[in-house]
Amino acid sequence: MREQTGASPFHEPRVADELRVDAGHDPKERRLARSVRSEHADLRVRIEGERDAAQHLALRRHDLLELIHGEDVLAGHANTVAVEAVGSSDHSGEGRVTEYDRNFRLTKDVLPSRYDLRFHLDVDHWTSTGWERIALTSKKASREIVLHAVELDITAANVDGIALENARFETDAQVAILRFAKEIPAGDHALEIEWTGGIRESLRGLYRSVRGEERYAATQFEAADARRAFPCFDEPEFKAKFALELVHPSGNAAIANMPVASGEDIADHRTRTRFRETPVRISTYLVAFTVGPYESTPETKTPSKIPVRCWLPPGLASQAIFARDAHVRSVEWLQDYTAIPYPFIKVDAIGIPDFEAGAMENPGAITYRTRLLAADEKNASIVTLKGVFSTAAHELTHMWWGDLVTMRWWTDLWLNESFASFVGEKCTAALNPEWRYWRDFVADNTSAFNLDALASTHPISIEAKNAEEASERFDAITYTKGAAVLRMIESYLGEDAFRAGVRIYLNRHKEANASADDFWHALDEASGQDVTSIMNAWIKEPGHPIVTTLVRRSNGGLDLALSQTRYFSDKDAKPSSQRWPAPLVLRYGTANGMREHRLLLATASGHVRIDGAEWIYPNAGGRGFYRWQLDETGDRLLDAGVKQLAPEERLALVDNAWALTRTGRASLASFLRRLDSLAGEEDRTVIGAISDSLAWLGSYAVRDRTEGPFARFVESFYRPIFEQIGWRPRDGEDSDTREKRARVIGMLGYHAAAEDIRRGAR
Ligand SMILES: [Zn+2]
Repeated sequence: MREQTGASPFHEPRVADELRVDAGHDPKERRLARSVRSEHADLRVRIEGERDAAQHLALRRHDLLELIHGEDVLAGHANTVAVEAVGSSDHSGEGRVTEYDRNFRLTKDVLPSRYDLRFHLDVDHWTSTGWERIALTSKKASREIVLHAVELDITAANVDGIALENARFETDAQVAILRFAKEIPAGDHALEIEWTGGIRESLRGLYRSVRGEERYAATQFEAADARRAFPCFDEPEFKAKFALELVHPSGNAAIANMPVASGEDIADHRTRTRFRETPVRISTYLVAFTVGPYESTPETKTPSKIPVRCWLPPGLASQAIFARDAHVRSVEWLQDYTAIPYPFIKVDAIGIPDFEAGAMENPGAITYRTRLLAADEKNASIVTLKGVFSTAAHELTHMWWGDLVTMRWWTDLWLNESFASFVGEKCTAALNPEWRYWRDFVADNTSAFNLDALASTHPISIEAKNAEEASERFDAITYTKGAAVLRMIESYLGEDAFRAGVRIYLNRHKEANASADDFWHALDEASGQDVTSIMNAWIKEPGHPIVTTLVRRSNGGLDLALSQTRYFSDKDAKPSSQRWPAPLVLRYGTANGMREHRLLLATASGHVRIDGAEWIYPNAGGRGFYRWQLDETGDRLLDAGVKQLAPEERLALVDNAWALTRTGRASLASFLRRLDSLAGEEDRTVIGAISDSLAWLGSYAVRDRTEGPFARFVESFYRPIFEQIGWRPRDGEDSDTREKRARVIGMLGYHAAAEDIRRGAR
């Protein structure tokens, strides 16, 4: 509770106005604001960034996921090296225009159904030799078979014993064109290929990892690098079953998608390990194996008897118990959520010493950076543990969404990632209620809001001509806005209808491929609403709306006049005629507590009456991806409800109010009045958002004349919080309080110039 410390100096509109006038009319300030806006979307992004660097790095969905999947995974694909081939070779000349350019797609004339795959891995010389037999069906007779291969030396091949005549490589298209001695008739065939290749330094395809004297071979195939390890039909739609065999140094652990079926020691201190065949067909980018001196945690089983282990380099496995148990709990939660048993028999989580992304959702053999598994619960920070848990939940969500049902093409990569993020967060939040995890989700939306408010933003979904293109454009829009928009539609439809749609989609397309539209149709079916047209507007249009609401009290309720227009952070941006089918969930207060009202604002404006409402808050749960503004009546009425709002709603309230203030849509006085209504705030994330905005004002808008009043405002806001939490951590104190203390002391010492704090901090 806030102590009575007297009226805030900022209650005087004059001072607030002066401050605003200063901020808006100082040419230097304006120039600064403009240059910052074009560089960073909003200074807030930078401020967020600084704060996060210090405190929240592992929590930020965007950063975390960027790390997980890496932005430059595919960079440099264009420059692949031509390889020697048996028979006559014809390396396509530079500048030759053919169908085999980088946007080349395989035809569906030849469909693989099963791969027998063998690798001899020589980690002393970092070389590998391979053999495969691909069961395939060809639709028409042909002498040629085209499949992907990069930096592989194909030494032999045949189809049903028909010998290879020659192999030609098209480097831009990354394919080998195998021409055989005779025509291969339509029908079922066995294609056998032998090749040699490296265990390469670059962290893609089949690659090497070294830790001291330890040597590891590992794979990373997403998005289009399976073709660097074995010749294959390397597009997500060409799903097949895989049966793998590895020859590797004896004494090393060999781990792959499936459990070990048998192992035998052979000559030269080598072991042959056979793995069971995958029970379902999977895409090539999901095939994975690794060998090395790994050690594992003790195996444990989920209540539904799925074995789970973590594997790490020697000495680290004892720190991975928390991670292992996060996998166990997440698998159970996801089985329940999807109503589909875990599809891949076992879960191995493997920490590889060198790993380009953060984690990769290979079915049954999820690969990670070691630090995302080795985090001892006793010593690791809560931020680290949240990162470990939510990463595991994200990857395990992919076992159903991505691995069991796979996108048809890379255009829908955004949905693959956004869904895993959103449902991974649902899982993390549900299993760790003490973390109050949705606050972090809402806090993360700020960066996406800021980017998306620029005239230069892009739609969530853009057609990808190749895998590289889809991966390259991953940013806060694709990851964070994508996940936020899924949460918005779930909020509008209700959790049960959304989950029913997820189940329809997964059951209908399991072991196969599907598109975003298939998911929207499943949601249509489950909810009885036209989700398809709502979602297509949200994912294919750039930007997002601001919903303005005029509020009138009448007959014991509220009449609302709503209107929408595209929201730009630049006030001078050319207005847009875009309109969204905006799925709004309004929180409102009545004499008998809070309720929610759902409506679809599909046109430029609309009216709604809510009987019994005393105040409204236009973004229940902070779950909508839109900006909003109440008129003065609505804003004043909301004062009565502020303290009843959930923390994530107060967080979204501050974030929204600050965005409107920064862009000149609302006065600074109204923003400070809003902060005043939050006096006594106790939530760490809300205090964080308030502090970000005040720190910005303190650094960029406050002038000599306003320094004193500003310092007094900061003092009056933070002093009561400081008096509650004090200087020193108490026994059993939670991490929220620790973070809060750091923030409060920082604000008092720096922006309130509080002498006692400054002395104490020394
Ligand atoms: Zn992912």
